[in-house]
Amino acid sequence: MMERRNQAGIIYWHGDTGSHQVALTFDDGPNEPYTSQILDILDEYAVKATFFMVGRNVENFPETARKVKEAGHVIGNHTYSHRGPILNTPPRVANEISKAEDVIQKVTSISPYLFRPPYGAVGPRVLRQVERLGYVVSQWSVNAGDWRGASPQKIKKRVLSQIEDGAIVLMHDGRNLSAGHDRSSTVAALPEIILSLQDRGYKLVTLPELLKLDSLENFISKGF
Ligand SMILES: [Zn+2]
Repeated sequence: MMERRNQAGIIYWHGDTGSHQVALTFDDGPNEPYTSQILDILDEYAVKATFFMVGRNVENFPETARKVKEAGHVIGNHTYSHRGPILNTPPRVANEISKAEDVIQKVTSISPYLFRPPYGAVGPRVLRQVERLGYVVSQWSVNAGDWRGASPQKIKKRVLSQIEDGAIVLMHDGRNLSAGHDRSSTVAALPEIILSLQDRGYKLVTLPELLKLDSLENFISKGF
């Protein structure tokens, strides 16, 4: 409990720069068919990743959320409804995080402790709530820029040109609350990104492994 309390509210932008490790993260899902396609690719290359899920999308795709967990990936909290700035009022922030946590817990039996704010927007008020709720914040050091219209080649180039030891890569398997948002470019870019990184000797790991938070799994109950 102490260890977790000490980490809560910390914002990570990347892992240890002395480690030859990289963490792939996927935001805004679950979103089919793209999340399942990503899971198949990760499985094929024996890679574990981290998925920052939106609560309402978990309600829409509960089986996909369970598949992510069963495949051994890590699930993080990306709020319940991915609203614009959730910064407006502290109660709203807390509600958005808690509601997503409840859904994730109910559907996957996982109690998430990693949080990524929508749009990376984390002001002091948000941070205070995040800390109070026992969450560690993970932003990113490499933005894949996998928005609609970006070609797989461009996504791949953007990721590979920015990669360095300890990088946290931001990609998307969904978009806000829009079910079925086209993520085929991300899916198409993924195998080559993984292959190139593995060729360069990078180990692709989950965020808890990259940030050495594994011991925190023992401190999941939030009694404080
Ligand atoms: Zn998002």
